[in-house]
Amino acid sequence: MAFYTEEQSKIISSLFPDQAQEYNQLLESFGNFVEKEILPTARTIDRQGIFPKENMDKIFKQGFTNIPYSEELEGLGLPYPIYIACMELVGKACASTAISLAIHGTVCDGLYQFGNKDQHEKYLRDLITGRKLSAFGLTESNAGSDARSMTTKAVLDSSGNWKINGSKMYITNSAKADYYFVFAKTEKGFASLLVPKEAKGFSCGSNITKMGLRGSTLMGLNFDNVLVPKENLIGVNGEGFEYAKKMLFSGRITIAALSVGIAQAALEKSISYAKERQAFGKSLSDFEITRAKISDMMTEINGARLLTYYAALLKGRKQDFGIEACEAKLYATEMALRVCNQAIQLHGGYGYTDEADVHRHWRDAKLMTIGEGTSEIMQVIISGKAFD
Ligand SMILES: Cc1cc2nc3c(=O)[nH]c(=O)nc-3n(C[C@H](O)[C@H](O)[C@H](O)COP(=O)(O)OP(=O)(O)OC[C@H]3O[C@@H](n4cnc5c(N)ncnc54)[C@H](O)[C@@H]3O)c2cc1C
Repeated sequence: MAFYTEEQSKIISSLFPDQAQEYNQLLESFGNFVEKEILPTARTIDRQGIFPKENMDKIFKQGFTNIPYSEELEGLGLPYPIYIACMELVGKACASTAISLAIHGTVCDGLYQFGNKDQHEKYLRDLITGRKLSAFGLTESNAGSDARSMTTKAVLDSSGNWKINGSKMYITNSAKADYYFVFAKTEKGFASLLVPKEAKGFSCGSNITKMGLRGSTLMGLNFDNVLVPKENLIGVNGEGFEYAKKMLFSGRITIAALSVGIAQAALEKSISYAKERQAFGKSLSDFEITRAKISDMMTEINGARLLTYYAALLKGRKQDFGIEACEAKLYATEMALRVCNQAIQLHGGYGYTDEADVHRHWRDAKLMTIGEGTSEIMQVIISGKAFD
């Protein structure tokens, strides 16, 4: 079985019949690279909590983050679903690497959508090519799902700089990022500001250990009279919260893709194990119950994949995609948990041990139902379409 799966290839061919051969060759070769270079590092990254900088640099060199951007920004100018198919492959190989890239990608997307030409030249070019890394600072200790209740404030002081005070919580890529895309309250509502790591008064807390995605960093951010030039305001003062919402809609497609990748990894391990493990004089794969489990896993994964690539297609075509992104995230992340749970079950006692690598997938998948909007918040948004 190739790392870039037949199921992915069929979807890409249906979405882009005229370029099917070109795109599938590109994705197959990216899949081969990821299998060779990234997959073998995943277990150690998880066990030792190593930030996957080396992996990210290798992936940046392959032109990953710049896939959907225009050539004048050093992008590859390829359709958004190609980026999403790559995200699935990285998620399948190493979820710690994928989450760090996904958050970075959300920032690139926001800067592209809401930043001006100067900001594209000064920051985005370095970010999409991976010369610099970014983080997304929205959540606070008392403002997670209810992000509007954030208390971090920014005021334009007499010297023409933005002065930021407050703190953020649970920020991925903390201490590793060069730029922090931060949301703060202002006299006009909310603003988004780009804070460079070296800004005076800015600091990151200590690393928060967690059950999965152990290679990615997670810290709080502190702003103690941090001054950033007024040119670091992204877009319009007062629109920051709208930008956050739009960035999260895009981010949710990447989280869905990553979850599909994690589930695919768990499925492939389960199929191999079912063929090899003997019980009652047969392979597990000879039991109908095993086959039923595998068939459900395959069906659920491909269902989630279709929702995800469809949301990506809409985004790439600049059509409304917010609800579809939430549906993809809700279904794909909950699906990944179900699939990974079954994968542990299929491995029996071995699946519960650290010797097997299968519970890593469940631990990694769990965050996906929480980050970039919990499953319950996805339900609130999706059902809002029916009732609000
Ligand atoms: C590993 C990790 C990485 C993260 N990375 C980032 C990052 O890079 N940047 C960033 O800004 N944030 C990040 N976060 C924060 C993450 O986005 C929040 O944890 C998430 O949005 C949930 O917020 P909360 O933890 O405050 O939970 P709460 O909002 O307190 O929610 C607690 C529970 O209540 C439920 N709930 C809340 N409101 C409702 C409602 N209206 N209806 C029904 N149920 C509801 C929730 O679904 C949840 O089950 C990260 C978190 C983790 C754990």
